[in-house]
Amino acid sequence: METPLIADGFWGAVGNTPLVRLRRASELTGCTILGKAEFMNPGGSVKDRAALGILQDAVERGVLTPGQPGVVVEGTAGNTGIGLALAASARGWKSVIVVPETQSREKLDFLRMIGADLRLVPAKPYADPGNYVHVSRRLAEEMMARNGHTVWANQFDNLANARAHEATTGPEIWAQTGGRIDAFTCSCGTGGTLAGVARALKAKNSGIRIVLADPEGSALAPWVQRGEVKATPGSSVTEGIGQAARVPANLEGAPIDGAETIPDAEALEQVFSLLIEEGLSVGGSAGLNVAAAIRVAKALGPGHTVATILCDGGARYQSKLFNPDFLREKKLPLPHWLG
Ligand code: PMP
Repeated sequence: METPLIADGFWGAVGNTPLVRLRRASELTGCTILGKAEFMNPGGSVKDRAALGILQDAVERGVLTPGQPGVVVEGTAGNTGIGLALAASARGWKSVIVVPETQSREKLDFLRMIGADLRLVPAKPYADPGNYVHVSRRLAEEMMARNGHTVWANQFDNLANARAHEATTGPEIWAQTGGRIDAFTCSCGTGGTLAGVARALKAKNSGIRIVLADPEGSALAPWVQRGEVKATPGSSVTEGIGQAARVPANLEGAPIDGAETIPDAEALEQVFSLLIEEGLSVGGSAGLNVAAAIRVAKALGPGHTVATILCDGGARYQSKLFNPDFLREKKLPLPHWLG
């Protein structure tokens, strides 16, 4: 009998997710469309990788020590907070997580459930001192001054985030495809996933096309296309992706070849298709990523391989994306089994 591979708790169980062939998207395009099943990480999202990378870095820098008192503070749309809180618990540290109150109820409930010290703040633009990122930084500074042993994860500008994806997500995709990959599409919150994977894939084959998938209202697609950081018209029900006014340090300098702005209706069509035709339950950003992969595959033509990220699971958005009242209110497509 083979020796079973044992993962060492949360820290050992992050990553090495399946790369799933998406049947319908592949049939539609004549290409092979692949989704990296990041919802299978122990905290349920791609952000477990960034959380782990950031905490490993804090340990290496001597800011936190496993088994010794420590606090992790972060401002997050929810998923990074979940990854950080679980990873912190596994090392005996506490977590203080600042989240805008507009994020899904399921993510907030989950953060409470896992024992994070959750601080809800009103949603404010980055330029406002009340923005969740600034609130979390000030909290971390106060706690550091009082107790020491506190780390502000700072996922947007802490480069340990993109480095985690460069070291794990990108090489996994390269190995899982056996290097047979023509393009990669990915949406950005911090940009850690896109930048890290892009650098890892381009280092293997600079011809792999890297495409940013952006929701409406975000300024990132115009930044890639014209070097101009200016929000596009509209808004999005997707969570954790798009930037209205700035390019996070993790995304700066990433080798990106193009960008697609995807309307919510197109993203949700993929969320519902993945659910009912593939048996894969994913959130809005994953649907948006697949929609962009389909656009890129159509542009490349049949026979190509396009990979993307299935960032998190649908259960995190039951009260929104799978709620008929919410979909009707937002004038979004209502799948027949929910109507
Ligand atoms: N999808 C979801 C659901 C997320 O929570 C996030 C992170 N906020 C992303 C995508 C974007 O990932 P990254 O921060 O690596 O750009």
